[in-house]
Order: sequence, then C-alpha cells, then structure tokens
Amino acid sequence: MRILVTGAGGFIGGHLVGALLEQGYEVRAVDIKPTEAWWQWHDDAQPVRSDLREKELCEYAVRGADRIYNLAADMGGIGYLTSHRLEPMRSVLINTHLIEAARQAGVERYLFTSSACVYGEGTDTREQNAYPAHCEDGYGWEKLFSERMCRHYSEETDLQTRVARLHNVYGPHGSWNDGREKAPAAICRKVAEAIRNDSHAIEVWGNGDQTRSFMHISDAVEGLQRIMEGEYSLPVNLGSEEMVSVNQLVRKVMEVAGVDELKITHRQDAPRGVQGRNSVNSLIRARYGWQPGLSLSEGLRDTYAWVAEQVGAMRMAA
Ligand code: NAD
Repeated sequence: MRILVTGAGGFIGGHLVGALLEQGYEVRAVDIKPTEAWWQWHDDAQPVRSDLREKELCEYAVRGADRIYNLAADMGGIGYLTSHRLEPMRSVLINTHLIEAARQAGVERYLFTSSACVYGEGTDTREQNAYPAHCEDGYGWEKLFSERMCRHYSEETDLQTRVARLHNVYGPHGSWNDGREKAPAAICRKVAEAIRNDSHAIEVWGNGDQTRSFMHISDAVEGLQRIMEGEYSLPVNLGSEEMVSVNQLVRKVMEVAGVDELKITHRQDAPRGVQGRNSVNSLIRARYGWQPGLSLSEGLRDTYAWVAEQVGAMRMAA
C-alpha cells in the first residue's frame, strides 16, 4: 500500500511517517518547508517539497497513492492562532485541491486532520455540537469547512473520507521555541530554561486556571491510523479526556524535571485561548473500542527530555 502524508515535515507528520514506514508501507512525505527544516528525517520515505495550495502540485503529490493523510496546514499554538487569522484560513486551498486531486486519481481513502477549534467556547465537545458553529476565528472555520467538504466527497463520490478532530497533541520533535509551540512544549521549555539559567522563575499565560486536555503523540499516531482504517466517515474526536489546568500542567512538568520550587508569574495580558475544553470520547470508544490512554505524567517524560536537550543545545551554540 502506498501512502501519502502531507505536512510530513511537521510534528505529527514526522511521527506518522516513521510509524507507517516501520509497519512496512511505502510512504511519500510532502511538506512546503525545506527538508533541512523538517522535524524528523526518514531515509526510507520519498520526500517532496511542495506547496499544496497549488492545484498542479497536489495532482503530482497524489500520484499512485492508495491512502492520503492530509496533515498540511498553517498551524500553531494559541499565540500564533490569535495573531494570525488569514494564513490558517488559506490552508483551505490545500484541502480543496488535494481532495479533488485524490478523487481524480482514484485514491481510495483520504483522512483530514481537523481540530477541537471547531467547537465554540464552553461547548460540550460531543461531535454533533460543532453545530451551530462558533468556531475559533480563522483556523477553526477553515477546519469546519474542510471537514464538511470531506463529508460531501464521501457522500457523492467514490473517495472515502475520514476526519479526526484532534485535541492538543504534544511530544518530542515539534515546535518548542519558534512562536508556534503549544502549552506543553512551551512550559517544558520555560522550566528547562529556568533550571539552566538558575532563575527558578517562569511566566505562564493567563491566570493558569484555563483547562485543556493533552494527548501524547503516540496516541495521536495510533488514533489516526485507527480512524483511517475504520469504517466511520464523519468527524471523530481524537484527544485525551484527562483534563488539567495550565497550572496543573506546570506542576507535572516540574515533577518530571525534578524541581520542587519555581516562582510562577501569570501574564494576564497574554493570549490564553478558551477557558476550558476537553475531549469527549464516547464516539471513539463506541466505534473503535479504543481511546488515547497514555497519562500526561507519563507522556511528559520523553517530551521534557527532548525539549530540555534542545534548550541545552541552544546554550552550547550560543
Ligand atoms: P505542524 O505545524 O508541525 O505541521 C504542519 C506542517 O504542514 C508543517 O510542517 C508545514 O510546513 C506544512 N505545511 C503548511 N502549509 C503547507 C503547504 N501549503 N503545503 C505543504 N505543506 C504545508 O503541525 P502539527 O501539530 O503536526 O499538525 C498537523 C495537523 O494536525 C494540522 O492540520 C493541524 O491543524 C492538525 N492539528 C494539530 C493539533 C496539535 O495539537 N498539534 C491539534 C489539532 C489539529
């Protein structure tokens, strides 16, 4: 089976390509970034540098593929998404051209990575509650539109589509200091820097009582493959149900890092995102008899170790 992974130079894409290769699949890995900027490099994959907002490049990318995981998107943490509404919306061009190219090329299955940002502030995240829509401005609207388009391709063409609504994913080999990082990587970096600088102080965005759930990358990769290979075509939440506040996340990172005391300053003027959001997993459990299972405390181990290593390497380079 030949599989195309778009956004393969990114965080989730890099891990997914690695897993698919290990399972013996032939993988084409596409990303707009120069290959030296990809988070992970896999010798056995076929790398292609391409801007998938271009129709012809989508037609080239899908050739010979049986399955497509469309992960390519202009994406970031809350800091990035709050200050960039337009570019994430322009990712609609990726899905629009790629899904049509997939249909024309006779691709069998196509998975789109949507996001919990399709749910409005304070909404219970059962899948049907994405409507009536109160998406995150910019990024969330693009996700909702694109997942809807997937649905109609499934209904009206031979292309089978799948949609995973990912809730925050964390792990090694992803953004940690480039302005696109999400809370777990950002907190790991701040804690590692506080230790390195001997400052024993960190800054947290908002008052820290905003709640989230965080899914380890190993669960995300497994879940994406389960959804791709399953028979359900409508959107499914793929996230952890272990809800924590940002302050609790900080505590957990401190435990993993082995520090007892840090002075925490809360920056009230910083972007903080929605007050609370958690994954509701009744549908994924019912459909797949599975849900993400790695606890945050466990999952933070490899994440913190990797981020701390990057922080150390920066110091050596300075
Ligand atoms: P990422 O930013 O690390 O990876 C996305 C990749 O897409 C990047 O490497 C980027 O260069 C590439 N890309 C962007 N525009 C492109 C284009 N025009 N052509 C080709 N490649 C392009 O993000 P990620 O965390 O790996 O997320 C992967 C997917 O999962 C995205 O669609 C994202 O919206 C979705 N998602 C992620 C999370 C999360 O917590 N990481 C949560 C919800 C949804």
